[in-house]
Amino acid sequence: MTTEQSLAYWQAAAADLTIEGRAFINGAYTAAESGETFTCNSPIDGRKLVDVASCDTADVDKTVALARQAFDEGSWANLAPAKRKAVLLRFADLIANHSEELALLETLDMGKPITDALSVDISGTLRAIRWTAEAIDKIYDEVAPTGSDELGLITRQAIGVVAAVVPWNFPLLMASWKIAPALAMGNSVILKPSEKSPLTAIRIAALAFEAGIPAGVFNVLPGFGHTVGQALAVHMDIDTLAFTGSTATAKRLLIAAGESNMKRVWSEAGGKSPNVVFADAPDLDEAAIAAAGAICFNQGEVCTAGSRLLVEDSIADDFIAKVRTAMAAWQPGNPLDPATNVGAIVDEAQLQRVMSYIDKGIEQGANKSVGGKRITAVAGGFYIEPTLFDGVQSAMAIAQEEIFGPVLSVIRFSDEADALRIANDSIFGLAAAVWTSDLSRAHRFARGLKAGSVWVNQYDGGDMTAPFGGFKQSGNGRDKSLHAFDKYSELKATWIKL
Ligand code: NAD
Repeated sequence: MTTEQSLAYWQAAAADLTIEGRAFINGAYTAAESGETFTCNSPIDGRKLVDVASCDTADVDKTVALARQAFDEGSWANLAPAKRKAVLLRFADLIANHSEELALLETLDMGKPITDALSVDISGTLRAIRWTAEAIDKIYDEVAPTGSDELGLITRQAIGVVAAVVPWNFPLLMASWKIAPALAMGNSVILKPSEKSPLTAIRIAALAFEAGIPAGVFNVLPGFGHTVGQALAVHMDIDTLAFTGSTATAKRLLIAAGESNMKRVWSEAGGKSPNVVFADAPDLDEAAIAAAGAICFNQGEVCTAGSRLLVEDSIADDFIAKVRTAMAAWQPGNPLDPATNVGAIVDEAQLQRVMSYIDKGIEQGANKSVGGKRITAVAGGFYIEPTLFDGVQSAMAIAQEEIFGPVLSVIRFSDEADALRIANDSIFGLAAAVWTSDLSRAHRFARGLKAGSVWVNQYDGGDMTAPFGGFKQSGNGRDKSLHAFDKYSELKATWIKL
């Protein structure tokens, strides 16, 4: 990895880049049936990157038929798991060989710092694909505990055609959490990237094909707005829809599935994660640095962003002062500069959304004590100062709604019961953290939190070895770990009379 490269290096690389904008269907780059395209601009400076195929229902129908045909022919589905593993490992190696190009595409397309694109997005994608590939030939089926006159086999089978609809905040990483287990199981996959960040998904399709994933098995359909996602959701021949994105869209997909073929819908949706700091935290300086990182990393465009900071009354003033100091180290800069740790907001609409929440926080009486302004001086794109609101009440919009930007709401609490009540006072339940030196309290609190991931004395732990997903309206199902295979397979019971 080349995080030590300079801004000039990445700018020169960007100028040299040839960007593909077509869909990838049945082993080839293809224009949309309609010939329509939409413009893909960079949030770094607003400049046009490429015209992207604007797929619609006709492209979805064609691709689903080809994906189904590929599945039924079995050139991928019927391979021994060890063979699929070998191909997926080759796929990962090709991604590794193109890591700078892919990181650059990610940064140009969605505005994240190039250093993060390399060290988080691309390396996380590699880890996801390699870990999943390595797992697939180590999973055994089961034999039921029967009497001696019969044999009960419990087998796991690929489900068929899987659609993966993903968001723009970690475009390739979120896609990899879905396509790796779906492909490893033997399914055919149609990946639908966000219109705000379609470029890396489009690029890796050719690498997958080069690695040996047969034509029709892995397809990428970009499109503008909800057209492709909606067409996939209502399609009668898609077996599973794996979604990461907002809670509002997840609900629409569930309805669409219910009104069509009852396809399985797995969603990883929004969050409003509480980061709870007790006075007895082992290291308040470390907790403050983590609290700042939890809201500033990736411009706060993180489903698990620690957007609600709950602080015990007795330490609140001192602790908030430490967080303010720590946030000063997070300042927007040109995402192509390896020294930058806060990049551009993905587009103007998202920038306006974040700014409107900052206005709402002020209107509702919270005290804005850090940041809060748009920055226009960086490169002409969409940048916002990391922002801290103190004096937030749990009922305020900035404490309840997902802002998806670098805006931190600090809420004070009096005791453990109060902290747990506030922490769980949310429609979301994706992640949570608690900082305390009291072992019993750590366990008690972790158990009481309604969240799919809980961190104790750290923020944002975990890797491919553990499942990731939400309670409540943060979704269902789990990405990562062996549990991810549940989403892309059906269990079959076969009873044999002996
Ligand atoms: P979004 O719901 O607007 O879009 C997600 C995807 O769905 C995109 O590909 C989009 O084109 C598509 N889509 C939008 N409307 C659709 C519709 N009506 N029918 C079908 N498809 C539709 O979300 P976003 O703004 O791209 O992403 C941000 C959201 O993603 C946040 O809520 C964030 O918390 C969530 N997220 C969750 C996780 C997780 O693992 N839980 C991870 C990352 C992001």
